[in-house]
Amino acid sequence: ASPRTSQLIAGEGKTLAHNYHPLPVVARRAKAQWVWDVEGKKYLDCLAAYSALNFGHQHPALVRALKRQLRTLSLTSRAVHNDQLGPFAEGLTHLVEQDMVLPMNTGAEAVETAIKIARAWGYRSKGVPANNATIIVADNNFHGRTLGIISFSSDPEARDDFGPYLPGFRSVPYGDAAAVEAAIDDTTVAVLVEPIQGEAGIVIPPASYLPAVREVTARHNVLLIADEIQSGLGRTGATLQVNNVGVHPDMVIMGKALGGGLLPVSAVAGRADVMGVIAPGQHGSTFGGNPLAAAVGKAVVELLQTGRMQANSKKLGVVMGQRLEQMRGLGVVGVRQEGLWAGVDIDPELATGREVAEALVGRGVLTKDTHGSTLRFAPPLMVKEADVHFAMDQLELALQDIQSF
Ligand code: PLP
Repeated sequence: ASPRTSQLIAGEGKTLAHNYHPLPVVARRAKAQWVWDVEGKKYLDCLAAYSALNFGHQHPALVRALKRQLRTLSLTSRAVHNDQLGPFAEGLTHLVEQDMVLPMNTGAEAVETAIKIARAWGYRSKGVPANNATIIVADNNFHGRTLGIISFSSDPEARDDFGPYLPGFRSVPYGDAAAVEAAIDDTTVAVLVEPIQGEAGIVIPPASYLPAVREVTARHNVLLIADEIQSGLGRTGATLQVNNVGVHPDMVIMGKALGGGLLPVSAVAGRADVMGVIAPGQHGSTFGGNPLAAAVGKAVVELLQTGRMQANSKKLGVVMGQRLEQMRGLGVVGVRQEGLWAGVDIDPELATGREVAEALVGRGVLTKDTHGSTLRFAPPLMVKEADVHFAMDQLELALQDIQSF
């Protein structure tokens, strides 16, 4: 790295808590699928802020919506109504085929919200005895970093030394609907699941898994909550990954790309009788549903209503998947892909995911490793076919370089 980059990184290291280990790139500006660092070096963004930038950096329609709203009304809190929130909620419920929305800001907040709604529904509607509700989750889940959520994480890094933990969760193997059914009893209010596990390494369950979980939960009067924060909003070639497998959950959790890469915007969308258990004073957020967020969120919904992002993700996902499959044996030992989202396992004998991600930085491609030997590719959904080939060429070349080293 050049002296300027090194200096900026070293400066951060002194005053910023070390809860991340970023790649050695100091970004300065970005447009669409491209990022430029402080040296002027250009990168193809193949991470897209963990799918918060599904529509690319500075999407013109989203920036326009934000700018227009900034000039008019930015914050009200929910103490009064604002003219943006209703239309956003209406558009979003329509897009994801649910009845009602509860807006929050970050993904973790929306997950906590869904948990609270599910518990309240369990007591008030299902008749579960007070303080006994249980929620079934999956091993290796990732739903965020709050205390409630890490309480049911199976990742020691996410969990250790942060106890005592919140009770009321049962974790079962991912991809196994029979294990879900076996864990259900009279106290079970919900099953909370990622339709594809993102942070675990883009782990795609068998196609029959979610339909089977839907059948089991419906039969036992248990809510199915899909955390689509990373898998949703076009990433997998559909509006939601549950659409790809023909499942309709009782609640859907969205975040990341809902803010168009401009603002933190999250939401829980769900069935009217479930969402309806929350009364005034029982839950909220100062910033949740603010006019800026609602204006951007509505513009995001409008983008997705055209279906173009989903279609491009589906089409170019096939290209990316084919290229990755061809790298099996050339340093790649596993590939999992759905739309423009792929988990690539690097031969651990050859290199760590981090080493390959760093080699790709040198080659002008931004990706990120997860869990040691897995790399993930999640470019903005508006990339061109040539961009996908560029990224795949660079990965191939990086693996060749490492092999000949
Ligand atoms: N749920 C899933 C599936 C995620 O992938 C993430 C973030 O990676 C979250 C929840 C948490 O979102 P946030 O970081 O906005 O709190």
